[in-house]
Amino acid sequence: MSSMDESSAILTIDLEAIAQNYRYLADRVAPAECCAVVKADAYGLGLAAVAPVLRDAGCETFFVATLEEGIALRTHLADADIHVFNGAIAGTEAKMAEHGLTPALNSLDAIQHWQSFQHTRDEVLPADIHIDTGMSRLGLMPEDVSALVSDKAAMGKLDIDCVFSHLACADDPASPMNRQQLNEFEACRSLIQARRAGIAAASGTFLGDEFHFDFIRPGIALYGGNPTPGNPNPMRQTIRFQARILQVRTLDAPRTVGYGATHAVNQPTKVATIAVGYADGYLRAASGRAITYIGDQAAPVLGRISMDLTTIDVTNIPEDLIQPGGLVDVIGPHNPLDDFAAAADTIGYEILTRLGPRLHRHYLPAESR
Ligand SMILES: *Cc1c(COP(=O)(O)O)cnc(C)c1O
Repeated sequence: MSSMDESSAILTIDLEAIAQNYRYLADRVAPAECCAVVKADAYGLGLAAVAPVLRDAGCETFFVATLEEGIALRTHLADADIHVFNGAIAGTEAKMAEHGLTPALNSLDAIQHWQSFQHTRDEVLPADIHIDTGMSRLGLMPEDVSALVSDKAAMGKLDIDCVFSHLACADDPASPMNRQQLNEFEACRSLIQARRAGIAAASGTFLGDEFHFDFIRPGIALYGGNPTPGNPNPMRQTIRFQARILQVRTLDAPRTVGYGATHAVNQPTKVATIAVGYADGYLRAASGRAITYIGDQAAPVLGRISMDLTTIDVTNIPEDLIQPGGLVDVIGPHNPLDDFAAAADTIGYEILTRLGPRLHRHYLPAESR
């Protein structure tokens, strides 16, 4: 592994900021429980580093998407309560149980498979019930809930831990979907005996106390994404993404920059070429739109972002700040995650989960307390 000094691009991950984001949300919703969603390698930031920090910050219940992610998390957190959103693919029930993972049961079929599995083991194991109130992806439809609860024998053979649903428009407090889904969830969950109920992910947490139920399950907000788009971000930034300056040139005559010659220079311009590209997750869609920073000075991207290189305008930046070997913030204090996401026409979630394997990852530790 390269050292930080030799690295072309550096991703600094602030574990203390992640711990503070967890505690902020936990305090906000208490006495409801704050769980943590750590799917997709903790949103690209590294499950092995992030999961223990969340546990030390007080988190007891974790959600992942897949069996494989659950097994990986179990190696880091032997005692944690781990839940799997996508549930057990038929035939993998035993593996779920072997690793002490709680699957979401997302359909009547999945419930049946789980019950047959329990029958072979002659025991009842905890499982979650996911109710679809408007996403139409996974989960029981309201009519499935009616069918389930009318089958007393089937219900008697279930040990339901979490009953949950997922909001489609939580990032838009004005959407009527939020209230509709809340009402539908209320109606369904009142029919189901479960230990805990929850509907809010990160954005849902900010819709009001009635969305908190017994637990919230935030992901993006832990990692610094703004759960309240359009309003100031209440969360701390957790990443800084820096790339090294490789070369600087002055263009005095008209000339074009980059693939497709999409950017034409018609006046004297200083161009710095930095060692980052779409292979690192610096998405090509942000070509000609993203803004980098050198110290507190803005340096806009010129022309297309390529696989390994990006060109930026450093015309107005002092000479001593633009020496080859110097570092440029492509995501940093002045150009946070969500700004870059907007420039690439996407959301912070996609930026985080596509941060490339070539980045040198550097962790700032969480304070022990
Ligand atoms: C990913 C996911 C979450 C977390 O969502 P955030 O918006 O990142 O807080 C919660 N619940 C389900 C079902 C999910 O798939």
